[in-house]
Amino acid sequence: MSVATTHTASELTAARELRAMMQGRVVLRGDDDYARTRRIWNGAVENQPALFAVCETSADVEAAVRVARRNGLPLSVRGGGHDWAGRALCPDGLVIDLARMRQVVVDPHSRVATVAGGATTKDLAVAAGSHGLVAALGNCGAVGVAGLALGGGYGPLNGRYGLAADNLLGAEVVLADGRLVATGPDEEPELFWAIRGGGGNFGVVTSLRFRLHEMRHMLAGPIVYSWSEAESVLRRYAAFAATMPDELGVSMGMPSGPDGQPTLLLLPLWNGDKHRGEQIIRDLQALGTPQLAQVGPTTYGDMLALFDAAVDAADCCHWETRTRSLPVLTPGAVDAIITAVARKTSPYSMVNWHHAHGAATRIAAEEMAFGLRREHFMVEIIAGWKPDAGNGAEHRQWAQELWEGLARFALPGGYANFLVPRDREQVRDAYGSNGARLRSLKRRFDPDGVFASAIPLPD
Ligand SMILES: Cc1cc2nc3c(=O)[nH]c(=O)nc-3n(C[C@H](O)[C@H](O)[C@H](O)COP(=O)(O)OP(=O)(O)OC[C@H]3O[C@@H](n4cnc5c(N)ncnc54)[C@H](O)[C@@H]3O)c2cc1C
Repeated sequence: MSVATTHTASELTAARELRAMMQGRVVLRGDDDYARTRRIWNGAVENQPALFAVCETSADVEAAVRVARRNGLPLSVRGGGHDWAGRALCPDGLVIDLARMRQVVVDPHSRVATVAGGATTKDLAVAAGSHGLVAALGNCGAVGVAGLALGGGYGPLNGRYGLAADNLLGAEVVLADGRLVATGPDEEPELFWAIRGGGGNFGVVTSLRFRLHEMRHMLAGPIVYSWSEAESVLRRYAAFAATMPDELGVSMGMPSGPDGQPTLLLLPLWNGDKHRGEQIIRDLQALGTPQLAQVGPTTYGDMLALFDAAVDAADCCHWETRTRSLPVLTPGAVDAIITAVARKTSPYSMVNWHHAHGAATRIAAEEMAFGLRREHFMVEIIAGWKPDAGNGAEHRQWAQELWEGLARFALPGGYANFLVPRDREQVRDAYGSNGARLRSLKRRFDPDGVFASAIPLPD
């Protein structure tokens, strides 16, 4: 990929102004550390920002928003760099890079964490874990807490504690005019409503306050079934899931095994009574004859490390992701997934899903922007290929076909954090009846579309 190294006058002016104002540093396209700074999870993203404002403080973020606007530059926000569509990198624009703003302060008495805007899931999990506490986040340690929670945030604790967004107590946000404001239930409540599901559309979140919970007897680890058993295990699992207790979360996936053949992976996490947990893990293992079952006592941080090791092993891959939300695992939906995975075009491609149940479904749909509050399985259809395997057209096509095939089993809309603007119908329905309010708040807080690079909102 060739990288232009010349700059427009406004890019150079923006860099000069920022260097005079910021505590952090500025990286311009063409600088030695540009490639390293630009690196994100999805290697397929080719966007070349003109410059990065690598922020150290909220004041740096305020300066970056003002400078970008004054110089007419598009801007984007980089947190953990794990958005598959590369929304962190706006082409020819200014990236507000929060990768150095990762402080986490835990108050064990009130069970509240104050988390900087660029902190990762691992940062918060480790800090909370050192006090015997846990935050309801996702499965991957490297994902940004803000990016995850602002779009909703599915994870293995959502049955007991709700989605990540449900655990937000407040935030500090740099708005489109460069002002830093506090938001929460009693301060700018409309902004607080909007950021819990509406992603980075309303400003740059420099700090979040997060509710923490007691880490009880935690059991987690992989249960792997052979592909020949996948269908029967999934059918039994569908009945199991319908009566699952809140304390259990089961993420599932169909990654390739060491021989390149697909497998069925269950990743349970139990946080509750020891004996009940051990029994329920036995029940899960009895859904078939596992090839591997390594569920045992652990911490949330260690569970993330396990997942991260698998993610790192596939590093440098190029990715394309689509999403569907299934209300139940019907035999038809299971067949469609199994048939597609059996025919996948790349060993890196997979289908994963999170199960939203329990506490995540007991919140009124209108309480915050994230509006899908009935039980469902959030399915991620992930096409992956190595950079030397061409442009990925056949793998993208594989994902597209399964996405289309699952439509008839799915609820309208899909998980906002995985949406792409071209899927207008899915975007339109992603927020259910909250779409109109969200759109009107977008007009109020970001009338000029400064944060246009964030997840797409309904028209
Ligand atoms: C390997 C992997 C595992 C994942 N696991 C889960 C999971 O378990 N559960 C789940 O729900 N999702 C999961 N996701 C999806 C993930 O939550 C989203 O992609 C999320 O947007 C990533 O946030 P980030 O900060 O890492 O990404 P980035 O690419 O840095 O940011 C993406 C966008 O989020 C917004 N944003 C990020 N930080 C801020 C901020 N501080 N202020 C304002 N806007 C901000 C911006 O619009 C930004 O462009 C996973 C993704 C990957 C690649």
